Amino acid sequence: MAANSGTARRKATNVLLDTALQEFYGAADEMGLNERLIAILSHSERRLEVSVPVEMDDGSLQVFKGYRVQHSTALGPSKGGLRYDSAVDIDECEALAMLMTWKCSLAGIPYGGGKGGIACDPLSMSKKEKERMTRAFGARIASSVGTWTDVPAPDMNTGGQEMVWLMDTIGKMRGQIEPGIFTGKPISYWGSRGRNEATGRGVATCGLEFMKKLGKDPSQVRAAIQGFGNVGSFTAKTLHDAGVKVVAISDITGSYYSPKGLDIAAAFETIRNDPKRLLNGFEKTGCEKVEDALFADCDFLFPCARDGVINKDTAGKVKARYIVEGANGPITPEGDAILNDAGVQIVPDFLANSGGVIGSYFEWAQNLQGFFWTEEEYNNRLILIMKENFKRVWDYAEAKKVKMRRAATMAAIQRVAEAVELRGLFL
Ligand code: NAD
Repeated sequence: MAANSGTARRKATNVLLDTALQEFYGAADEMGLNERLIAILSHSERRLEVSVPVEMDDGSLQVFKGYRVQHSTALGPSKGGLRYDSAVDIDECEALAMLMTWKCSLAGIPYGGGKGGIACDPLSMSKKEKERMTRAFGARIASSVGTWTDVPAPDMNTGGQEMVWLMDTIGKMRGQIEPGIFTGKPISYWGSRGRNEATGRGVATCGLEFMKKLGKDPSQVRAAIQGFGNVGSFTAKTLHDAGVKVVAISDITGSYYSPKGLDIAAAFETIRNDPKRLLNGFEKTGCEKVEDALFADCDFLFPCARDGVINKDTAGKVKARYIVEGANGPITPEGDAILNDAGVQIVPDFLANSGGVIGSYFEWAQNLQGFFWTEEEYNNRLILIMKENFKRVWDYAEAKKVKMRRAATMAAIQRVAEAVELRGLFL
């Protein structure tokens, strides 16, 4: 495709969308991507807005707004979650869909990027209201989702139940079931073994590969993990099983530290016995409570709780020299600049936590085959892919002399751009 296009660069009023666009332009310029490809990839293929009429339990009618954005299908069906939240809007969906394009591309899986949801307050709705809303939304987006077009998954405030309602609704409309149309389904209904642990296992695998590249023996490494939910707990377990000394863990009850290394099996036992699955009382196992696992004396830090925790106020207090981002966006741009100046090396979120979407791909692949893998097969395949992806980003960063975050974005854009070039303009 020849260079030159003259298309003006987009600016968005939505902060999330504008950040996603400017990050894309920055990486695209640095890699010398031609303007025609920049113009194509800075726009979404489809921004769908639907109305979702729902009869509420009290007999009244409410019309919700639903969205589905397909940023790119250059590499394959678009992939990405559906969230239920009052803040959902079309621009937020577009920003997140674009990030999914890069995440899937970098993961080396045959998907583009999508995102969607409904602007609603799910916590104030009954299960029946949510079912009616989900089924009405499914009917509205049926024309644009499918195993080979767009494959949504759970996201904020949605889970396996919503995926089954959606699959059932569209299956009834089409007169046949289509298991590969949504992922994140329960194991009892076309879901996959291994998915629950996949993201944390992938985060830890990135950490272990990072140690290998740095010539560090895992048994000599001290790790701190913020968050002991789905991602943090399985990151901690996988690291601990590999011989790493996990010296700090945390959740909303506080941070727990021991320079000798924590008893991770006892931490799992603690959350199993807690009604809210929290680390309440974990200090009784012989560790001390400290200010924040983020600032613990350690070599590797794994922020696995939430976004924005390492920012201009907290970045200076981080002692770790290496960070692997388990959560989405745990480091703000200001925090990133402070850490970069201090020479801290960072594995970015969309590489480190891509075990989740790779796990979705495994579920889809099994659904296509109608044949379920064992958990061992699933884990072995996941670890292999995570190792390859880490190596790809590491090598790209070395070759281009850039940070891993920029290298990951550039490698991801490169793969999508090649697909667009190969397929040509009729998209
Ligand atoms: P989760 O709700 O299971 O766990 C979150 C954990 O963080 C809980 O232990 C909570 O107590 C703790 N926490 C919250 N605020 C904290 C704070 N300030 N300090 C210490 N601990 C705190 O959520 P999750 O599924 O583990 O997701 C965590 C992050 O990873 C999110 O950013 C999510 O978007 C991202 N992520 C998750 C997946 C997945 O498959 N679950 C995939 C990709 C990315």
